[in-house]
Amino acid sequence: MDLQGILEEIAYALAPRAAAGAGKVADYIPALARVPAAHFGIALRTRDGHEAAAGDAHLAFSIQSISKLFTLTLAMQTLPDEELWQRIGREPSGNPFNSLIQLETERGIARNPFINAGAIAVADRLVTHGDAKRRVLALLSSLCGEAVVFDEEVAASEAATGYRNVALANFMKSFQRIDNPVESALDMYFHQCSIAMSCAQVARAAGYLCRDGAHPLEDGTQVVTDRQARRLNALMLTCGTYDAAGEFAYRIGLPCKSGVGGGIVAVVPDTLSLCVWSPGLDHSGNSALGMEALEMFVSATGLSVF
Ligand code: GLU
Repeated sequence: MDLQGILEEIAYALAPRAAAGAGKVADYIPALARVPAAHFGIALRTRDGHEAAAGDAHLAFSIQSISKLFTLTLAMQTLPDEELWQRIGREPSGNPFNSLIQLETERGIARNPFINAGAIAVADRLVTHGDAKRRVLALLSSLCGEAVVFDEEVAASEAATGYRNVALANFMKSFQRIDNPVESALDMYFHQCSIAMSCAQVARAAGYLCRDGAHPLEDGTQVVTDRQARRLNALMLTCGTYDAAGEFAYRIGLPCKSGVGGGIVAVVPDTLSLCVWSPGLDHSGNSALGMEALEMFVSATGLSVF
């Protein structure tokens, strides 16, 4: 299959709408509101290491909630299952990613690790085990073979305006679901969200999810076990795209994780990992053109888990 040609066709078809700035850039984080909407990039890496890319695939963007996939991976590497899942569920929330409603009725237990509350709870566990910020950068740098860094301006912007995240963390703390001072858990969370990477880097970094947990670049190294990789893919499919996970499964049928920076990472198990980026979001907070691009990719290649 001519994967490079397919990516180029998708980028070409969507270019006019990307130039017109389809969707609405996240403006509740001031540093993200300044990102021009007129971008579109797409990149993939196959299980055996072939890479393809088109459009703005090498431009760094704010990965935001895509980071939740990698912090969960780190938590799976670090913590026994009982400790990790004691305070976090594995069900889709059906609510916006920053909703407080369920947290009250479910006594501070976040529905899943991919909504903000769940990711803050994961960040808290990582802080407990030490050196969390350095470890997430080390993991990502190793996975994509290039130095990955925080964007301190984005992290500071979120810390200054992340009122809902502060509320979520305090709410969980009131149910004794957060061990560390909320400031420490939030500092980790805001930093992980601020990580800047390109589509090509994210597609490569997620490679272990299409390789039964095997490191994309280092032969013989497992990032997670094959069972953990299956579980990460299952969580992405059911919970990875805010309250549009059903629509994603229906239209695309791949495990995906999106972020409000406009990136979406997707996995075709046993075959390839890909990442698309366009900053304009739809009403559910997913990249508007990103979702369309994934749909076009699935139609053109016939690749889907269904
Ligand atoms: N930093 C963002 C927030 O906490 C992440 C949201 C997202 O990408 O889903 O609101």
